Amino acid sequence: MIKRLIRRVLRLGNGAEPTVVPLKEHGISREMISYGARKVCEVLASRDFEAYVVGGAVRDLMLGIQPKDFDVATNATPEEVHRLIRRSRLIGRRFKLVHAVFNDEIVEVSTFRAVNVQANDAEGSGVPADLAVDVHGRLTRDNVYGNREQDAARRDFTINALYYDPATETVLDYHHGVRDLKKRTLRVIGDPRVRFREDPVRMLRAVRLGAKLDFRIDPRTRAPIREMGDLMSNVPPARLFDEMLKLLMSGHASACLHRLRVEGLHHGLLPLLDVIIEQPLGAKFMNLALEQTDRRIREDKPVSPAFLFAALLWHEVLAAWKMREGKRMGRIPALYAAMDEVLDIQTDKLAIPRRLTTTMKEIWSLQPRFENRSGKRPFALLEHPRLRAGYDFLALRADSGEAPREIVEWWRRFMEGTPEERADLLLPAPKGEQKRRRRRRGKRKPAVAGPPPTLAD
Ligand code: ATP
Ligand code: MG
Repeated sequence: MIKRLIRRVLRLGNGAEPTVVPLKEHGISREMISYGARKVCEVLASRDFEAYVVGGAVRDLMLGIQPKDFDVATNATPEEVHRLIRRSRLIGRRFKLVHAVFNDEIVEVSTFRAVNVQANDAEGSGVPADLAVDVHGRLTRDNVYGNREQDAARRDFTINALYYDPATETVLDYHHGVRDLKKRTLRVIGDPRVRFREDPVRMLRAVRLGAKLDFRIDPRTRAPIREMGDLMSNVPPARLFDEMLKLLMSGHASACLHRLRVEGLHHGLLPLLDVIIEQPLGAKFMNLALEQTDRRIREDKPVSPAFLFAALLWHEVLAAWKMREGKRMGRIPALYAAMDEVLDIQTDKLAIPRRLTTTMKEIWSLQPRFENRSGKRPFALLEHPRLRAGYDFLALRADSGEAPREIVEWWRRFMEGTPEERADLLLPAPKGEQKRRRRRRGKRKPAVAGPPPTLAD
């Protein structure tokens, strides 16, 4: 009751009126909206709430791109939405949201939030008490409910602040988003410096959306990025990981990373990435990995984030491995130490979750094991749960010229072969290895006279 009253008061404060864009101009008919998003809007509207399809979906539909997912914005609180939509759950990390579930579709429903703060204005005025900013002007809490106009103003880019009403098939445009869509321009809402300071991740989003849509970034939006890139180091590493993953899984990873480098934003994300890029083999390997990922995503094939991160950091691991091996460390212990070192440095900036780093290490540590092509070892490798990923990784290394092609071919035939073919493929044990084995067998000899051999032998 009180909440509704507050809402009504807030609505009274509405200043700017949006442009109402008709169907014939935006071209989005009701049928183009997913079943779930339409249903959510219908249910909320039937209870006198406002509900709109917002964000990327409206933008993408207007550009003729199939949206990844549909988001809904409403003046109902998360609790109200949760109560009205039967199969829904309240989720909340930075702020509370509702996920409405319809078979295999999940619609994210968010409550209108308050306008952004002009965090760096000299007097510090205009900062509502509930909005928290850190010393760099970064918003640390922005879970204050607001009205539709405020919700539009707190969004990042003009083309992301369009509100589509399925009931009337109209689009509400507060910040000339439709004009910018036509001009294929990405423009920050408000003062770019302030908005980037509030949330430096928006710089990353600018690069990602620019590459995804093939839009030019408006000069006023673009200019501060180069000088403000360092602010990225204030963003919590887990959030950076989420955004980076979106970027890498966008189907435009190659173009995105290229743009990140152009804008000087890569330093804080993948430390030493620029060093790798200066090594011709490293650059070739990374580009191949990114292109392969983009291709697979566009073909709707599954891709593994662990594989991709393993590829991005492989030449770091190689360099650290070589350094350690030189210091009288065994080959394999040196590799393990190198993996840990690279991941330690990396996760400091961009928190790659443990479930991924475990797989990355498996992929990396399989690489030297592919060199063993005699005795029992190749058979043991066939049982390895990451064999396929490890093999694909090896193939990529060969494509970039870093591993011998012939090993990849050998493994392909070994993996596909019958037991007889596999036995035929085995190579004789290398000379040093033969001697070592003989010596080991020699040492074990006295035991034969003792208890019978066990399975472990
Ligand atoms: P994609 O096609 O990758 O999903 P998107 O624009 O929909 O792109 P989301 O991360 O799904 O990106 O965000 C949905 C909407 O939320 C955006 O369109 C934008 O309006 C708003 N938004 C997301 N992140 C921010 C941010 N950091 N600052 C302000 N608004 C944001
Ligand atoms: Mg989206």
